[in-house]
Amino acid sequence: MTEKADLTAVLDRAAEGGRITPEEALELYRHAPLHALGQAADAVRRRRYAGTEHIATYIIERNINYTNSCVTACKFCAFYAAPKSDKVWTRDLDDILRRCAETVELGGTQIMFQGGHHPDYGVEYYEEHFAAIKAAYPQLVIHSLGASEVEHMARISGVSAEEAIRRIHAAGLDSFAGAGAELLPERPRKAIAPLKESGERWLEIMELAHRLGVESTSTMLMGTGETNAERIEHLRMIRDVQDRTGGFRAFIPYTYQPQNNALKGRTQATLFEYLRLIAVARLFLDNVAHIQGSWLTVGKEVGQLSLHYGADDLGSIMLEENVVSSAGAKHRSNRMEIIDLIRKAGRVPAQRATTYEHIVVHDDPANDPVHDHVVSHLSSTAIEGGTAHPELKILSTN
Ligand code: SF4
Repeated sequence: MTEKADLTAVLDRAAEGGRITPEEALELYRHAPLHALGQAADAVRRRRYAGTEHIATYIIERNINYTNSCVTACKFCAFYAAPKSDKVWTRDLDDILRRCAETVELGGTQIMFQGGHHPDYGVEYYEEHFAAIKAAYPQLVIHSLGASEVEHMARISGVSAEEAIRRIHAAGLDSFAGAGAELLPERPRKAIAPLKESGERWLEIMELAHRLGVESTSTMLMGTGETNAERIEHLRMIRDVQDRTGGFRAFIPYTYQPQNNALKGRTQATLFEYLRLIAVARLFLDNVAHIQGSWLTVGKEVGQLSLHYGADDLGSIMLEENVVSSAGAKHRSNRMEIIDLIRKAGRVPAQRATTYEHIVVHDDPANDPVHDHVVSHLSSTAIEGGTAHPELKILSTN
């Protein structure tokens, strides 16, 4: 089914909201003209957001890395340190709370608590930290962790995944960030993360979380040597769970960063592959509301383009990010740049909440936060060490 007429018929059906099969998605991904893919995906986005289709969103959040100690040693990861290594660091609760305070001061609404699979951190560690954060800053949404961390902490504490989810949710976790999905099909997952739980298990835990009332986003790491068919299979696995739960709020593909990791940058996704994936995701994941462009990993211009290939959101302006930056992600931005980026892509920018409601719609440039201290007073934060630098760097990722 690679005849042009067949592809056009599939694209037309998808653009009109019809469901496409994994086989059709793969054919589109491989053979449909990029421009036609983008047009069809944008038509779907516009229909889904009829009335607000002129808007593209962003969020202000902080990524708080609590430790880099990790027993899982994923081959694509430049962030972790082996638990007995002299490169291991941890942040204490006071430091974490200081970072939360800075996030609130700078207008952030969400934190992503993210770290390695520490050999000793069980459910209790997360209960204590989430409860402390919520007690001090109830306005902050804790959008953090994912199935991998749940699997790990449950094993450390000797409890079921269900109990782990129930307890950290009760302690303050609002939603799962969906990290750790990497590539869900077995072959590429084993190749890059042999010690991580299987893709099936990752989905099983996310499905469980959705049933327990904890929604999430879903992610995909592109460019570590997976095939096109495996990329589409990843989408199929997410769509099947979503048909049952409706708990994935968004799909966020991002590209492998090549530096300082065991894969040694031997493969990478091209920007065209990335845009095609964004578009096919919008067409195939007809049950997932939001598709996010990850300009931290693909760059601002491609991030802008993604808004014309089906994406409706550019993710976060991060007050701190250390994970993909460690692997070479160099793109930096700030709030005014993101607002400008979205405007120049022909959309009206809106700051959103974790659950995608619009907090501020920047529909009048005269009212822009022109002296935005979030932007102008930021520089850098050390990755290592336990003390928050008073000035923060501002980045963006999922
Ligand atoms: S990706 Fe996460 S689980 Fe894998 S090595 Fe890095 S920190 Fe550990």
